[in-house]
Amino acid sequence: MSGRRLTVSALERAYECPASFAFPILVHWSSDAAERGDSIHEFVEEVLAGYRSNAEALAQVPEEWRHTCAHLDWSGIIGDFELDDRGEAPVVDCEVAYAVDVDTGAVRELGRGLKRRYPPTGPREVVGTLDLAARLLDGRWCVSDIKTGQPVTAARDNWQIRFFAYVLYRVHGEHETVGRLVYVNEDGSVWKDEHVFDSFDLADFPMQLREILEGLDAAERARGRGQVDVNAGAHCKYCPAYRSCSATTGLIQALPDEIRGLGSRDFLTTRDVGEIWARFKDLLAISKKIDEELKAFVRAHPGEVELPDGRVVMEIPKGRDRINGERALAIARSYGATDAELLGCVSRSEWTELRAMNPKKKGRAA
Ligand code: SF4
Repeated sequence: MSGRRLTVSALERAYECPASFAFPILVHWSSDAAERGDSIHEFVEEVLAGYRSNAEALAQVPEEWRHTCAHLDWSGIIGDFELDDRGEAPVVDCEVAYAVDVDTGAVRELGRGLKRRYPPTGPREVVGTLDLAARLLDGRWCVSDIKTGQPVTAARDNWQIRFFAYVLYRVHGEHETVGRLVYVNEDGSVWKDEHVFDSFDLADFPMQLREILEGLDAAERARGRGQVDVNAGAHCKYCPAYRSCSATTGLIQALPDEIRGLGSRDFLTTRDVGEIWARFKDLLAISKKIDEELKAFVRAHPGEVELPDGRVVMEIPKGRDRINGERALAIARSYGATDAELLGCVSRSEWTELRAMNPKKKGRAA
């Protein structure tokens, strides 16, 4: 491997597109969604690890995310965790960092509350920090990963969840381990995607990690020969190499021809349109990244970015107040609003969208 440390958060991308580790890293992503995630993670950790009281931890949360934390559905997160000897508080391990040796399968704890500042690890170790681990009331161990954004790969196939399920399996030696993705909505409510892993599911996990490392080595060698194959997909979203990636640069170069094809509809086949649509979707994701990068640059150079016509590009603050419909309806109900009155407050707008579907199972997105 190229000397880069492989972390759990990059496992899915390393599996799907090893080439992303062979390209130069030209961008590090940070976004509102990431900041929201960090704030909520920190709040949960501080409360459950007992570093601060709920009120103290809440006071540290940036104002825009405070409402979510203040209304957090704790019972949805820790409601089935085993309690301490006094039966008062759940026993939870928070933010524990581990390394897994891909050759021996050995697991070692690196520390707690490290905030991703890992100590030195070996080239054959993969590292990661779990959010929460606890023994459930039914006696099984459970790892919970808190998510605050869009749904990620399902728990059953999620590399992060499988990594920590393997860690708990090795540390505690139980036949079954529960892996959970806990999604936090803006109103503090949560929903869970859970899978139960047994020791057979997890037995060959180090071998799968080994294969990923071998894929990274092969991509590195292919780069040396100038023949890197990339695999674009959802994992491109936060790829730090996207600006140097041949898929994205090639996509942009190829775009004018694709778009020109749209103007000559008579000559387009259904296959042509399918290809154009797939490229268009890729381009939308890339253009979002470009927009974020341009904003960051303009923010760092206020008043300095000039257009060819002499105008100057500025970052304009924008905002929108949103009403939480569910809460508003609940309040209206508590004041005695009737169903007919509530219905009168609801308006519906309709639109269509193009979506990739499995032709055999219409109704399910592919
Ligand atoms: S942007 Fe996507 S296709 Fe390109 S290197 Fe990154 S993960 Fe691979």
